[in-house]
Amino acid sequence: MSGKTVLVTGGAGFLGSHLCDRLVEMGDDVICVDNFFSGSKQNIKHLLGHPRFELIRHDIVRPLFVEAEQIYNLACPASPKAYQYNPIKTIKTSTVGMVNVLGLAKRCGARVLHTSTSEIYGDPEVHPQPEEYWGNVNPVGPRSCYDEGKRVAESLCINYHLAHQLEVRIVRIFNTYGPRMHPDDGRVVSNFIMQALHGKPLTLYGDGLQTRSFCYVDDLIEGFIRMMNQTETIGPVNLGNPGEFTMKQLAQAVLEITGATSGMTHEPLPQDDPKQRCPDISKAEKYLNWRPETNLHQGLQRTIEFYRHVSEAQ
Ligand code: NAD
Ligand code: UDP
Ligand code: UDP
Repeated sequence: MSGKTVLVTGGAGFLGSHLCDRLVEMGDDVICVDNFFSGSKQNIKHLLGHPRFELIRHDIVRPLFVEAEQIYNLACPASPKAYQYNPIKTIKTSTVGMVNVLGLAKRCGARVLHTSTSEIYGDPEVHPQPEEYWGNVNPVGPRSCYDEGKRVAESLCINYHLAHQLEVRIVRIFNTYGPRMHPDDGRVVSNFIMQALHGKPLTLYGDGLQTRSFCYVDDLIEGFIRMMNQTETIGPVNLGNPGEFTMKQLAQAVLEITGATSGMTHEPLPQDDPKQRCPDISKAEKYLNWRPETNLHQGLQRTIEFYRHVSEAQ
């Protein structure tokens, strides 16, 4: 299983950089491609100069010609703040970029693992969400550039598989957090921790009773590796932590672990903000023998530790 040439698009991002670490550790030759839109060299600087690691600054909306046996396609901004900054670019990355990745895979005979998202379920009417649920997405709302782009990307994967027998694997990721999440990316875990560390009140959007399930990054990366290297299913397979928390509970946990006394404040709920989200992971359990091992408290402790170092270094 080791010594393969593996391409990781979006490899300098939060999840991509952890994946590159893991692949290098496993003995693979890693080609990391990134345009640094929402990722940074900082995330992979410890890998620069490693004999099995190569960095290419490239935008996957443009064709890319490299040789690889496996491809993990992560390129796409993931936080609402980042993907709404240039919505048309976000759509192009998930559509034109996806075609280029699949075209490359077709030429090389490579297997592609594509990182889709729980956002394809939109504001779900079925709870928890199994893979069979088709979703409830507003096609013209502010989140549509991300959600619909990701839905097209899944369709492209399936259709390259059907038309060209391309080996694809689709995972639908639910909210994941951990070290190297960008401190200003606007996502709830990074916001709450940075606010607590700076003695500011934690901003609950709406009543704070909407739910999310939070998966620690190391658990997720294990799921990626298992999904890529099995032949039972092409997916889609949900990957996430089925523990479900309200944003208020998350805020309480962050206040407790950091020891901050800054409390909470309420801000308006963004448009089309899903009310609840929780993965049904029975497929991941069945096909990958995978389930998350890190609970929210442990994961938050490690993440808070990381942000403390970042804050001290600034
Ligand atoms: P991230 O923004 O940290 O990483 C995305 C990376 O892709 C960045 O390094 C960015 O610079 C790069 N990128 C963006 N557009 C590109 C382009 N056109 N060409 C080349 N590189 C490009 O986000 P992340 O949290 O690491 O997410 C990685 C993937 O996982 C994304 O596809 C995202 O949609 C998916 N995902 C993440 C989560 C989560 O909770 N973190 C949840 C669901 C899905
Ligand atoms: N492509 C690429 N790298 C490759 C092979 C293809 O970026 O190594 C791009 C190519 O530019 C094309 C896209 O992938 O636009 C889709 O390729 P495919 O072979 O499926 O389609 P075609 O070239 O026949 O349009
Ligand atoms: N949220 C919040 N305060 C913040 C940032 C986000 O209450 O400072 C809420 C947001 O409204 C949403 C949830 O936290 O209901 C998760 O938001 P995030 O942007 O992290 O992810 P997504 O909405 O894409 O799941």
